[in-house]
Amino acid sequence: MSVHAADELIILKAARMFDGKSSALVQKGVVVVQGDRMVDAGSNLPIPSAAHVIDLGDATLCPGFMDAHTHLTLDFSGDYNQRRLKEVDLNVSEQAIIATTYARATVEAGFTTVRDLGSRFVASREFVDVALRNSINKGVIVGPRMLVATKGIGATGGHFDPTSGFRDFLFGREPDYTDGIADGADEIRKAVRFEVKNGADVIKAAVSGGVLSLADEVDTPQLTPAEMAALVDESHRLRKKVAVHCHGDQAAREAIEAGVDSIEHGSFMKPETLTMMKRKGTFLTPTLMATEWIMNKIDNYPPALQAKARAAAAARSDMFRNAVKMGVRISFGTDAAVFPHGQNAKEFKLMVDLGMNPIEALKSATANDAELLGIGQKVGTLERGKLADVIAVPGDPTAGRVLPKGKKPKILLHRISALRPIDTPCNLFT
Ligand SMILES: [Zn+2]
Repeated sequence: MSVHAADELIILKAARMFDGKSSALVQKGVVVVQGDRMVDAGSNLPIPSAAHVIDLGDATLCPGFMDAHTHLTLDFSGDYNQRRLKEVDLNVSEQAIIATTYARATVEAGFTTVRDLGSRFVASREFVDVALRNSINKGVIVGPRMLVATKGIGATGGHFDPTSGFRDFLFGREPDYTDGIADGADEIRKAVRFEVKNGADVIKAAVSGGVLSLADEVDTPQLTPAEMAALVDESHRLRKKVAVHCHGDQAAREAIEAGVDSIEHGSFMKPETLTMMKRKGTFLTPTLMATEWIMNKIDNYPPALQAKARAAAAARSDMFRNAVKMGVRISFGTDAAVFPHGQNAKEFKLMVDLGMNPIEALKSATANDAELLGIGQKVGTLERGKLADVIAVPGDPTAGRVLPKGKKPKILLHRISALRPIDTPCNLFT
């Protein structure tokens, strides 16, 4: 690690640059950094003689990648039943300490910002995501910039009910708004207020069933239109965006109508629903990695969940192809925790395989996510005045270049006011 004087000019040079907004890469990329800001970015810029130059060679400079759908405090990737047992075995403090390794794995994979969409521990009222975010901001631990959703909000018995599938009253009480479980418009408002009070940057809700929950069907609506209207109204009044977990088509239509900012997953959305999204400017966060992982490890899940996963996976590829063709705004998001943390970049390949142009896929993880997260003034593109949140990926990420076996790409990022070269696997479209 090298620490530089605040006024020193640092030049990042690479064979190419993707600035987050243009429709092509430029050659001879140069980013000029001073302090924690970029003072210039472009092709073949003149290099001041006093500057400290870091030449990355055959690489592409990019804005730090963002993942709009993670769960950095959790890991659902192993055997389902073992994981459930661990959830009630380990105390929450221990789970929080383990989560610090997930945060590090994520930033070391080139993802310098995440929108963390839900952090719940059964029968616990801890806010582990808030603690993780604050510790990263204070420089206590290494991790990405985090916007957190705390518990997420959902209906009794719905996808987010942490006691679903356990024996009734095993935990001594029914979950309530302090666990994110709310029924009726007034309770939904109370849950939103409670989460914002406790540090939520964004509001997450489950408006339809989900794959990894035991007591619901994957595509049934779980909030009423009146509840969704209250959710969006209360969140927007408090200047918080709303992301909704939603697989089913009816729930998606009602949520888009209510004015949510993004639909997460969206597996069963029909073309007419995608048309509505396009008209309203609603983002789609496709989380292709989540279904991919579950389908590849289907034996790790109970039979009831296997059937739900198969149905969602069968529907989501056509839905995503349609969304790309129709020009729905796509925000990059993976559902990291369903698969092991640090593999976020594999989502790029899945998006491109289903018809997305590689540059558009890169934009989804930079400028699009910055806009959805409401932080486009600070990050998301390589431009004068923005934070020097820069990574470099090997070769040309849009050309499907395969790295030589055993060679690890280098990711360089500027964070916590120091430039830290990091070696980490980051396969994009290969
Ligand atoms: Zn999720």
